[in-house]
Amino acid sequence: MYSDLSLAHFMDGLKKRNPGELEFHQAVYEVAESVMPFILDNPVYQHAAILQRMTEPDRSIIFKVIWEDDAGNLRLNRGYRVQFNNSIGPYKGGLRFHPSVNLSILKFLGFEQTFKNSLTTLPMGAAKGGADFNPKGKSDREVMRFCQSFMTELSHHIGPDTDIPAGDIGVGAREISFMFGQYKRLRHEFTGVLTGKALEFGGSLIRTEATGYGAAFFMEEMLAHRGDSIRGKTCVLSGSGNVALYCAEKIIQLGGKVVTFSDSTGFIYDEQGINAEKLDYLIKLKTFQRGRISEYADKYQCDFFVDEKPWGVRCDLAFPCATQNEIDKQDAHTLVSNGCMAVVEGANMPTTIEAIKVLQHAKLLFAPGKAANAGGVALSGLEMTQNSVRMSWSAEDLEARLANIMKDIHQQCVKYNEDGDYINYVNGANIAGFIKVANAMLAYGV
Ligand code: NDP
Repeated sequence: MYSDLSLAHFMDGLKKRNPGELEFHQAVYEVAESVMPFILDNPVYQHAAILQRMTEPDRSIIFKVIWEDDAGNLRLNRGYRVQFNNSIGPYKGGLRFHPSVNLSILKFLGFEQTFKNSLTTLPMGAAKGGADFNPKGKSDREVMRFCQSFMTELSHHIGPDTDIPAGDIGVGAREISFMFGQYKRLRHEFTGVLTGKALEFGGSLIRTEATGYGAAFFMEEMLAHRGDSIRGKTCVLSGSGNVALYCAEKIIQLGGKVVTFSDSTGFIYDEQGINAEKLDYLIKLKTFQRGRISEYADKYQCDFFVDEKPWGVRCDLAFPCATQNEIDKQDAHTLVSNGCMAVVEGANMPTTIEAIKVLQHAKLLFAPGKAANAGGVALSGLEMTQNSVRMSWSAEDLEARLANIMKDIHQQCVKYNEDGDYINYVNGANIAGFIKVANAMLAYGV
């Protein structure tokens, strides 16, 4: 099957099988480019067609979701669950509610999840799901009715030992609670079928903070490897959601200076630095009042740049934490020429392939999301463990576990680095993530 395992040949086949799915092509290309030489050196993977099998989801479920808005109108959305690979554990990955959601985006996310979950060292397979539903501007009741309808179908396909969804863009504590309530009602059972739950009904401490904290820990590890640290560094962040807010919290605790946040309307630049008190205001604004980032600029009298991205702000460290493809080639050149030394992806695939090449060519430290934002799913794995043994662990214990997991992921990346003194974290993460899943697939036979 792999008589010609050139990258171009492989990608040609993938594009023919998945026409028009650009984000999925991009995510696969990034991995294939790293692992292809490794596979050629280890023909056992080539003979078993592991890469081809790994790029085909086990199944993609697509379903209609009908719900009623507050005015009594019937509304229609499309729901998805892409169960990608359960070789090393039950399917696990978030749900995204955003108007841009389509099969290509969920396949890219599900595919990346395979490697991310493998890197955490915990027994979790990979999935992703969601809907083209926009929670923005909807009342709580409308969100509730949507979530209940969505879960009515999804409940047929998930379970605590089968597939355990979590949150992602547009799916936070409110949405998880509505979905968990509906699952419990329908199945007449109380099980850890979703992660990211509230503490009162099986949630874990630190889960909310875990992705952002983990990304900051990963940056600290990369810098420590060079004898440096976050302390005193100016940091530029995009996004102002779950990942960005808690990434900033940990950066501030580690002595870094955060100067930007963004949302889909633009970015704020607070030259004085965003301290713990300002961050607390922002967390309340974005999480509970669902406000816009410009309100921060009004309150603290700083600059707000409409419809712009923050990558032109001079910085030492950059953390893209909003969405896919938010740093393009030009942005990467700007970061390099402004003296940025490291980029950590808090979001999934926020950097285009061309931009990654620019950053790597300039020898910036670059951490791909599948390594750097794995802290979220790692904590989800720990939430599953706590649910199974019906216990809850302390915040200190969980944060220490999270820090250790991020350290371990960093070490795995370094181990498979093949670029001399410069650590190519993309190759490291892809190869380390690949080996564990590939070996399990080999062991099972065909
Ligand atoms: P949230 O919904 O909490 O926040 C997303 C943030 O990004 C918001 O500020 C949002 O602005 C902004 N944003 C979203 N889409 C766009 C867009 N198209 N253009 C500009 N800004 C945009 O999501 P999360 O923080 O949970 O997720 C952020 C990223 O991190 C995603 O890539 C996600 O897949 C990834 N991730 C999340 C994990 C988690 O545990 N939550 C785990 C691992 C990865 P606005 O409010 O205006 O839409």
